[in-house]
Amino acid sequence: MIFEEKPDKNNNSGRWAERARELLEEQKNSWPLLKSNYDNLEKIITREIEFDSFNVKIQFNPERIKSSSADVNEEAVRKRKCFLCAENLPAEQNSLSFNKHFVILCNPYPIFPEHFTISKKNHTPQTIIGNFAELLDLSKSLGKYYTIFYNGPKCGASAPDHMHFQAGTKAIMPIEYEFEKMVGRLARSVISNGKIEVRFFEDHLRYIISLESRTKGELLYAFKTFINAFKKISSPHDEPLMNIIAGFQEEIWRILIFPRQKHRPDQFFKSGEKQILISPAAVDMGGLFITPRFEDFEKIKKEDIADILKQITVTKEYFEYLRKSIGGIFI
Ligand SMILES: [Zn+2]
Repeated sequence: MIFEEKPDKNNNSGRWAERARELLEEQKNSWPLLKSNYDNLEKIITREIEFDSFNVKIQFNPERIKSSSADVNEEAVRKRKCFLCAENLPAEQNSLSFNKHFVILCNPYPIFPEHFTISKKNHTPQTIIGNFAELLDLSKSLGKYYTIFYNGPKCGASAPDHMHFQAGTKAIMPIEYEFEKMVGRLARSVISNGKIEVRFFEDHLRYIISLESRTKGELLYAFKTFINAFKKISSPHDEPLMNIIAGFQEEIWRILIFPRQKHRPDQFFKSGEKQILISPAAVDMGGLFITPRFEDFEKIKKEDIADILKQITVTKEYFEYLRKSIGGIFI
């Protein structure tokens, strides 16, 4: 398959959310595997675990086993065919060309009632540096129905060698509908100058930074400041570890950043009873934990969630450093 730039005869360019939805409906008719996985998603079970100021949802989703247990070490990735490159996509896969660089594809292994992979047309490594402006464009264009998210190459992305975002149905992840409540409690506003609001969230088991603005330039500047500060306390050869969730509503972007220190928690590598097969990505950081095995879905407890998040989020010292660095630049 080659991603061609088709002229948009009907001038539909402002209707990306509708067009993505149409693509998914069309793929349900033309791709039996995808149809069957979306049908199964309707039967999927979830349960909730309550914390003091927020809830976490656990979703039992056996189709995600490949993604959760993906071997993402460099050698394994080098040896396999890239499943996001145009020439390796399934014959049934159709696409929607978003711009010169990105293409919208339906995810055949959904977590959300509507789930897309937004992949770069060229095979280039997963990185947010240089692609953050694209994330803003995508979240604005698709924000009517969808939230966009990013998994760092060592933070849950199953294709660390091929740049991609994902999009899922809005307001499924608890953090999206609990945000206002969380702001009311224990959020520290670092910057609030009428152009951008930057908040640092503590005491939610994982550290979170939110950026809200109507202006793309403000967000680009704030993100650049964040990356530069985070790079100083991260491994010099790798992108700082993070997940991002991006929404756009009433002309305002809300970007949630989850800075991390670790890819997978210890429980992932244990065996027998002690193993919990959770490989946290943006969705899990957003409060929707995916367990591909029923045994984990059943046994996972409040303490396990707290422990997993504590292991993978940055340390308090690092979070404070980021807060001071970002706050300092805007004063
Ligand atoms: Zn590729």
